[in-house]
Amino acid sequence: MNGTPQDVLGTVKEMVQACIQCGTCTGSCPNAFAMDHTPRQLWQMVLNDRTRDVLTSKTFILCSSCYYCTLRCPRGLPLTDAMSRLTRLARAENPTGFKKSQVFYRQFLQSVRRHGRVNESELMTLFFLEMKNPVLPLQYAGLGLKFLRKNKISLPFLEKKKSGGLEKIFEKVREMENQV
Ligand code: SF4
Ligand code: SF4
Repeated sequence: MNGTPQDVLGTVKEMVQACIQCGTCTGSCPNAFAMDHTPRQLWQMVLNDRTRDVLTSKTFILCSSCYYCTLRCPRGLPLTDAMSRLTRLARAENPTGFKKSQVFYRQFLQSVRRHGRVNESELMTLFFLEMKNPVLPLQYAGLGLKFLRKNKISLPFLEKKKSGGLEKIFEKVREMENQV
């Protein structure tokens, strides 16, 4: 991460300075329903220097970088980039608080890389093993049973391994991330 937390927040504030609070970003965001603050609210918090509220928010963690808000913002603000900066900042400031989402994200990507799609049972097994928290699987038991009943979970040994066709995409993303 480049600069102090205040530098990063100052940069993000400049990026959203021209926000007119129209709410188009919130209306366009496919993940807004699960966020504790809508994207519009988050930008308002940034502009009002509510640093603590911003950095403890789950909003930017749930951003999937789909770019809808960026494409539709009437002020042409670089919202997805601003979300990424906040995520990197919060991760650097609070690595323990981010462990769960980071482990899940990494295992998710590795599963896609291995199989060409996510293998749910393998993903969750590796996620639980890496988290080393015996209580954690219990929190997901209800959801797992629901998925099993609906035949939505594939078993690892039934999944054919892909020949690495995604490898080039992963390499390119890593190259681009190192340039940021
Ligand atoms: S769409 Fe743009 S101008 Fe409208 S609330 Fe979101 S950031 Fe602000
Ligand atoms: S880029 Fe992030 S905040 Fe913007 S619409 Fe997509 S998920 Fe929502």
